[in-house]
Amino acid sequence: MAAYEFNAPRLFLDIPMREGTRHTLDRAQANYLLSVLRRAAGEPVLVFNGRDGEWRAEIAPTGRKAADLVLTAQTRPQTPPGDLHYLFAPLKAARLDYVAQKAVEMGASLIQPVVTRRTQGDRIKLDKLHANAIEAAEQCGILALPEIRDAAPLAEAVAGLAPERLLVFCDEDAPVADPVAALRQAAAMHGGPGHGPGNDPLPLAVVIGPEGGFTPEERTLIGDRRNTVRLSLGPRILRADTAAVAVLALVQAVLGDGR
Ligand code: SAM
Repeated sequence: MAAYEFNAPRLFLDIPMREGTRHTLDRAQANYLLSVLRRAAGEPVLVFNGRDGEWRAEIAPTGRKAADLVLTAQTRPQTPPGDLHYLFAPLKAARLDYVAQKAVEMGASLIQPVVTRRTQGDRIKLDKLHANAIEAAEQCGILALPEIRDAAPLAEAVAGLAPERLLVFCDEDAPVADPVAALRQAAAMHGGPGHGPGNDPLPLAVVIGPEGGFTPEERTLIGDRRNTVRLSLGPRILRADTAAVAVLALVQAVLGDGR
């Protein structure tokens, strides 16, 4: 196992990872390494494909703006992702990208856009969600890419959650109480904070409403689900993307298992 190179750039490459593999970078990747980061021949790059752990590779320039990477050794074995499903109503494009990146950085193993009565489902561009998830994975150092699902009606997505999965329902109408205590109490009823049976990560899900909020029927649908904890994020009405970051940070801090 090679030593981890903390300040080496990271790239997601969907290629088999073996010692000696030589891979030709596309123009954008070569430009990023050679021109933007101004890396030189022989300098390390960390690469991962989401399946085979992380590998150290060395830059082998093949022209002024072209380069290959030669894989030299694995730096980290593949580790399983956490178990956090992130359900959110589509937002305006720029904020959707932002929310997707923050969800990945804070441990989402699955991203599920949900269509509610007050959102337009056509806002979801899956290829953009994928690209944002990969960019966030490269930046934050995770090895397993999250699963990205196509937009689904809210009722279908909630019904599709496994019964043992604890759903954190961000509800601005929930009583403003201590969210940490509320999360800890809900988790304690489901296998202990951060650990389900057999030290697996506690199966979690988070659901955030759209700019226009959930309808009363949707709130009943979510709130009536057995393993759901309604959580207030404080007395102010947060934008959906602010609420996303707030609740993901809270869940990661209180229940996260560090994956
Ligand atoms: N009902 C809000 C209003 O009256 O403006 C609109 C929804 S808010 C902009 C978007 C979503 O963020 C909500 O559906 C909820 O999931 C979440 N949210 C916002 N503020 C919150 C808070 N204080 N506590 C918990 N969730 C909140």
